[in-house]
Amino acid sequence: MSESISIRDHRDLVNRIAEEYGIRDTPILLVPSVSDWCRARGINQQSPFRTATSFHRDHDDLIVMMETIRADLVDGVYSNIRMHLPPECLAEIRIPQRFIAHLVLHEFKHLRDAGASEKECDVWALEELRKLGLP
Ligand SMILES: [Zn+2]
Repeated sequence: MSESISIRDHRDLVNRIAEEYGIRDTPILLVPSVSDWCRARGINQQSPFRTATSFHRDHDDLIVMMETIRADLVDGVYSNIRMHLPPECLAEIRIPQRFIAHLVLHEFKHLRDAGASEKECDVWALEELRKLGLP
C-alpha cells in the first residue's frame, strides 16, 4: 500500500506548475474533502473518493484538490491510471511530487480540453510531467 500524500507540503510545486502552464489565475484550492466541499455548494459531485476536480466558472476556472490524499485513495488513483497508461509508466508517478504534478496536470487538461477523456488526460499529464524534470 502507498503512503498518504500531502499536497499542502508541496504547494510550491503546485504553484510552479500553475505558473508554467499559464494557469496562475486559476485558483487551486486545497480542501479536506473534495466531495464535502462540493456538497456544501450544492454541486452534485461524484464519490467521497474524489481526490481532485475542476470547474469552468463564468470568467475563470477553478481546481479543487484534497489537501492530504489518504493512502487508500492514492492507491485508487494508481488503479485508475493503470487502466490508461502502460504498466511501465506507473513507476514514473510513484513518487509524491510526481503523483501531485500528474494530478494537477490531469485537471488542467480537463479545463483546457473539455472533451478530453480520462485516458487522454492521464496520457497528456504524463507527457507534460516528463518535461518538468522532477527528481
Ligand atoms: Zn479526470
